[in-house]
Formats: sequence, C-alpha cells, structure tokens
Amino acid sequence: MRRLLILLFFLPLGVFGHSPQISTFALVRDSKGQWTAHLSASLEAFESALGNKKFSSAEAFQKELIQQVKSAIKIKSGVLQLVTLNDGQCHLGHQTDLKFTLIGLPADAAKISVENELFKELNSHLMVFKVIDGATESNQFVLQSSNHFSAQVHIQPTGITVDSEQAFNYYYLLFIAPILLLLLLKYPMKKSISVVTLATLFFACSTDDSTVTPAASSAEVPAVYKKIYGASSVTSDGTTISIKVNGLPDHKSPYYATTNSLYQSYSGLTFGGYIFEKNPNSIIEQSATFKIPANPVMATNHAATPLGPIGIALNGVPFFNQYAGPNNQELKGEMAGFDQFYGHPQNSGVYHYHVEPLHLTTVKSTKSGLMGFLLDGFPVYGPQEETGSAVTNANLDVYHGHSHATVDYPNGIYHYHFTSEAPYLNGNGFYGTPGTLTQ
Ligand SMILES: [Zn+2]
Ligand SMILES: [Zn+2]
Repeated sequence: MRRLLILLFFLPLGVFGHSPQISTFALVRDSKGQWTAHLSASLEAFESALGNKKFSSAEAFQKELIQQVKSAIKIKSGVLQLVTLNDGQCHLGHQTDLKFTLIGLPADAAKISVENELFKELNSHLMVFKVIDGATESNQFVLQSSNHFSAQVHIQPTGITVDSEQAFNYYYLLFIAPILLLLLLKYPMKKSISVVTLATLFFACSTDDSTVTPAASSAEVPAVYKKIYGASSVTSDGTTISIKVNGLPDHKSPYYATTNSLYQSYSGLTFGGYIFEKNPNSIIEQSATFKIPANPVMATNHAATPLGPIGIALNGVPFFNQYAGPNNQELKGEMAGFDQFYGHPQNSGVYHYHVEPLHLTTVKSTKSGLMGFLLDGFPVYGPQEETGSAVTNANLDVYHGHSHATVDYPNGIYHYHFTSEAPYLNGNGFYGTPGTLTQ
C-alpha cells in the first residue's frame, strides 16, 4: 500500500522532471567558509531570460548574461548587509552553468535572504533551490514554480531550514495533497518532515542529470590543497579531494637517470648520520590518484598504515611509513640510501619520503610549514612548530599528531608532525579514516 501511494505521489512530476524549463540555484559554503552561488539552467532558458536577443559572439552573450544574473539575484545577509556577486564564471552548453563568489556573506551567516527574478518572464519554469554546506554536508531543496522566487535561509547548528515566500505550484499541490494526507494519517511523521521535504525528496530522485547539475560535483578546491604544487590536478567534489601525481621529485637526486636534468650525484652524510650509499633502484614516473576526505574526522578504529604510499607531499612525492618492509622491518637498514633530500626509490621506482622531506623544509617551505597530507585527510607539518620549537614524540599522541591552530587552519586541526626520532611521521596508524589510492 505504502509503495503504491509513493508511486502515485511521484507520478505527476515525471512530466516536470524531464521538462527543459528547470533550473538549479545553489548557495554553497565550502569548508573554509567561502560562499559561492551556482546557477544552472538550459541554454534556452537563459536565452529567454535575455529576451532572445541576438549576440555577435558567445563572449558577448556570456558577458550580458553575467550582468543580468548579477542584477536579478539579490542576496542579503541578516537584515541590511547586501552581498555582492563577484567574478562571474560561465560555462556555456546545452546545460549552462554560472558561478559567482559571494563577497560580504560571512562564513557564519545565520540568516540569508535570497531572491531570484531572472526567469520572471518565463511561464512554467521550475527552480530547485539548494543550500549546500561543505562543513556539514547538509542539503536543502525547495521546489519553486518560480517566476520570481524568494526564500529565507536559516542556518543553525542543528541544521539548515528554508522558508519560501512563494506558494507552490497549486496544480501540483492539489494533486498530491490527498495522497500526502493519507500518508500522514497512515504513517504519522514528525512535524519537521514537511511538504517541502517530501516534494523535494521526490524531485531529487526524478530529475535526470541533464536538468540538474549538482554543484557538489565540482566544488571549489579549498586554498590549503592548492599548496600541493607538484600535482597534475587537484579537484574536489565537496567531500573528497582527488590529487593526481606522477610521483617525480622536483629536486635533484642521484636516483634520476644521468641523462635527466635533475640528476645530481651525491656523497656525504644523510639522515641519521649515515654515509650515503646509493641503492640499486632508479626513479620511474608513476601515475597515482590520492583521494582523501575533504573534511577529515577522527576514526573509531585507527587502521594501521600500509607499506607503500600513506600520504602525499606538496611536491607530489608519496610519504611512506616507518618500516622498510613486511613484519615491521626497521627503517634503519635503508637509511643510508636516503639521498641529499632524504628520499629514495623502492624496487619499482616509486620515489618516497619516510622522514623529513628536506627540499620542502629548507627550500620550498620552512621547518614549521605544511608538508602534505596523509590518506586520512589530516595535514602533515614539519619538525618544528610555528614558534620555532622542535616537535618531539613527547609532544604527540600514539598516531604521531596533536591538535592546535596552524596558519592554514586558524580554527585548529589535528595534524601529524615529522620528528627526527622514530616513527618519524606516523605512529600506530591513521588518526582518521584513510581515503583511497589508485595507481
Ligand atoms: Zn623506503
Ligand atoms: Zn603541531
């Protein structure tokens, strides 16, 4: 019975679900607190919004569209503060997407009022409005029969709610009201599950990807990950950061082929006071993608780190753990093979760091700077704190990290540190839940 009712409930909207006149409007707050507005609709809808004028070029169309959207969307924070849409980006296609950075909308905004009259001249136009919070991953959807829609967004620690000042499409409401009433009578629900929630739950399921482009599929990459300068790409879908690398160090090494411009012979001391002794391996280009959580959290089970890559340095070189091989073989045996920057390749040519990456701590950054990330998404810092004091194992927990504010995370974060003593980078496993590595 329940299934039948739900089916009936979904039926009338199948018509709307495949209509070209559907647009998506999303407010997105990334994990750094930066707000962006995303508007996505069919090219035809945008052309109609500009009065079907003829343009001399795609650029001219884009330019006018951006201006038009900027004046049609009004966003206010609190009562007075007007938010400016900045730096319009436009991606033209059958499905056209626009993105704006919102200047003046505080990261901790509690109330936002939104108005969009871009499509006010269009008949039978539907708009899905979403608020996507990168920090809590909560979504809200409102279905509008929007000729001119406005909404109030309330952001509380308990979640996000949206009040709409515009009535629903009455035809739609008329159709579903009896079914909804039946459902409510038969399956009493908490007050919080409103018509809006039900209606939009369905809508989210019914729209195909040609009509709704989830803003989360290509979320803004938070600034901290842009420090990974050695990656061929760093992308975000809002929950996962994907880092693609070739694993080649950006500094000289005796492990490069002698024909390579980065080849440099080395003799002398290396990490641990050993006299450098080149191992028989050479650096070979790799192809690897590290997928790490964008919002790392402590895990209840702290998984042991595997042999092989456990994280990624800013220059795209992987981090390895404190062991030289299976059954916790001591790293000491291979330390003499660490080159002038304390890295070395293993037998399949993967160059890596087990200990402080000297090129980062002395050339590219500082002893207290960000070095990279472990697979669980938590950042790795050098062997000193920003105050200049050396970090020792005594300052760290069994996973080889601790929490406090850093330059990159002013609100504080759990982070690992390199230390000069074993286990150097990671202790008894990942603090958080590790992401994945594909090679
Ligand atoms: Zn090694
Ligand atoms: Zn620290």
